[in-house]
Amino acid sequence: MSEQNPPSKIICIGRNYAEHAAEMGHDPQRSQPFFFFKPASALLATGECFVYPDFSREVHHEVELVVRVGVGGRHVKPEHAQISGFAVGLDMTCRDLQRQAKEQGRPWELAKGFDGSAPCSEFINGSFKDLEKTKRITLERNGVVVQSGLWRDMIWSIPELMAEVSRYIALTPGDLIFTGTPAGVGEVSRGDNLIARLDNRCKLTLDVV
Ligand code: MN
Repeated sequence: MSEQNPPSKIICIGRNYAEHAAEMGHDPQRSQPFFFFKPASALLATGECFVYPDFSREVHHEVELVVRVGVGGRHVKPEHAQISGFAVGLDMTCRDLQRQAKEQGRPWELAKGFDGSAPCSEFINGSFKDLEKTKRITLERNGVVVQSGLWRDMIWSIPELMAEVSRYIALTPGDLIFTGTPAGVGEVSRGDNLIARLDNRCKLTLDVV
């Protein structure tokens, strides 16, 4: 991340894997993927620790494929969408605050966009063609694989979700997209070590303090 300018926005997609939608209590046949955003201050520089927030008692990991927008614009057609790189990241989520927000019909921003909530590995520069050579995103918690999924199983493809977002909000080169999490989300605790991977291409190591 460090050599890049901060992205103008971080776009996150929710419920983009059927098994994760089901584990959160939603019918994947009837629930559509959707979007939310994190501020640039959610990014965590490589090598920094994740500081467990003092306003939550239930922080979850969501491992996700992250792509960097190549060409910006509004109303981007899926066939014209381009990325300039990819990485693996974690959409850290205060599940208790999120649940409360849902119950109260309020936005999720604080549950999802707090400082340090978007740890991300170094990016590999590359296009969709390069990304297509990769397969699996995984997360190990204290040496045990807790999440593992094929990114091709996502419900909306990356070009489709770039097209959908750009109907509402212009894409800017360098924007990051967290493309949703496969099943197996769970709690983290202080003292945990997390290792997220995209095959053996991208690796993010994170200590929870
Ligand atoms: Mn997520």
